[in-house]
Amino acid sequence: MSTRQYTHFINGRFDGDAASYVDRKSPASGELVARFATGDVADMDRAVAAARAAFDHGPWPRMSGMERAEVLNKFADLIRKNFDRLVRIEVEEVGKPIRFARGDIEGSVGLIRYAASLAMQMSGSTYTNLGANKTALLMREPVGVVALITPWNFPALILMQKVPFALAAGCAVVVKPSEFTSGSAFELAALAAEAGVPNGVFNVVSGKGSVIGQSLAEHPGVDFISFTGSTRIGQNVIEASAKNIVKTSLELGGKSANIVFADADLDAAVDGALMGVFFNNGECCVSGSRLFVQSSIAEEFVRRVSESAALLKVGNPFDEDTDIGAMIDSKHMSTVMGFVESGVSEGAKLLTGGSAVENSAGNFVQPTVFDHVTPQMTIFKEEIFGPVLSVTRFETLDEVVALANDSIYGLSNYVWSKNIDTVMTVASRLKSGWVQANTVIDGAPQLPLAGVKGSGFGYEMGQAGFEEFTQIKTLFIHTGSRQPVFAK
Ligand code: NAD
Repeated sequence: MSTRQYTHFINGRFDGDAASYVDRKSPASGELVARFATGDVADMDRAVAAARAAFDHGPWPRMSGMERAEVLNKFADLIRKNFDRLVRIEVEEVGKPIRFARGDIEGSVGLIRYAASLAMQMSGSTYTNLGANKTALLMREPVGVVALITPWNFPALILMQKVPFALAAGCAVVVKPSEFTSGSAFELAALAAEAGVPNGVFNVVSGKGSVIGQSLAEHPGVDFISFTGSTRIGQNVIEASAKNIVKTSLELGGKSANIVFADADLDAAVDGALMGVFFNNGECCVSGSRLFVQSSIAEEFVRRVSESAALLKVGNPFDEDTDIGAMIDSKHMSTVMGFVESGVSEGAKLLTGGSAVENSAGNFVQPTVFDHVTPQMTIFKEEIFGPVLSVTRFETLDEVVALANDSIYGLSNYVWSKNIDTVMTVASRLKSGWVQANTVIDGAPQLPLAGVKGSGFGYEMGQAGFEEFTQIKTLFIHTGSRQPVFAK
């Protein structure tokens, strides 16, 4: 493994050097894998100024949608060309299993191609029914300079849920990636430049969230902030945005329900229960971390889930058959273990796991399953962000809907049943931006993701996600002579 070193990417090029760097050690092996420049407020000022100039005076927002789509498609081609390198960076910096890192990069390509198609379709509408000699044009325009602040769990994929949509609309962006996993943001910015994205349109500054994230969120040169991260920092971002009255979109935390009715395809639902909580090491905002199982099938179902969980392979994320890699850092691993301890002390029944992996150089946690979890318990309420499943049994549809909605979060929920009436009734009553039936953590670039309640607001992906990066200017036109109102 060779160590990659990144300086800020501003106005189409990497800075020559940086005053200081932060080391990123692999959370799986402890080896140094990358060094990221530690930005300060002056670096952020330079990046916003570059984006401002590119948006206010540069070619990108003035190109045709077709031209922007062509550049975006070249960008997607270059990602394919550099596929293995990008996958390796995600595995090294995040500690996620390689098969999931491949899915992230493949998914990024799909998002860019879809966004390219939207660049060609960007349009407004016209009113011709306003009366004689009156016409109104609703002109869809790019929102301007966009601040993109991203978390560490899907560094490339979440960035690509934002950047191509912003670029398709004609915006310029300044990215503040997570200080743990900044590598792919720099690589992607450089590839976008190679594809023909003009200087200043895609800038990346790395460093501490409390310093440069904060300075970006409250920067007067920014027109829109698109943030993905924790609910706590999301609240900071709202406060910062109030300074300049700037629109925000917030994709925050979750505590999703994974509901299994007795009439479900139980083989599929067992896999869905495991995937729901162990995918991406459990470090996933849409993780189905609260499993609800109908009582009549619970004994057998929970036994199958827990026995399968105990067989999962935890360890080197580069191994093809690894199921669960390393937690992002030792502090986060301690937080996860603290939740496990609270589950035990508050009386949940530990079925499997419950400890860190012994004799390990990395931050590995055993897949953990708790049964008989009640709504009063901490592990029922809090987003654990690790491989920890809580199981709660239920009797009726009404009961499980109330249990599922008993959360400050409202990001996603899952329901397993062969009965379409059950699926539709439950889906309509769940308070979340996303519901999936007989599948889990699925999706497509066309489908928007949005939270409600403590999970945030604003759309990501899909037509609705694209429109977040646009605004409507209403042009009212009167032709012919207008009836005087005041003139005598
Ligand atoms: P985090 O909130 O700690 O950090 C997110 C980003 O915000 C990082 O880049 C960080 O440096 C930056 N930041 C920190 N302080 C800041 C400040 N004061 N002002 C501006 N930016 C600041 O989140 P994390 O630990 O990186 O990621 C995990 C969280 O993200 C979980 O809660 C998870 O549910 C959430 N998440 C949500 C989604 C979604 O789509 N809803 C997706 C992935 C992750």
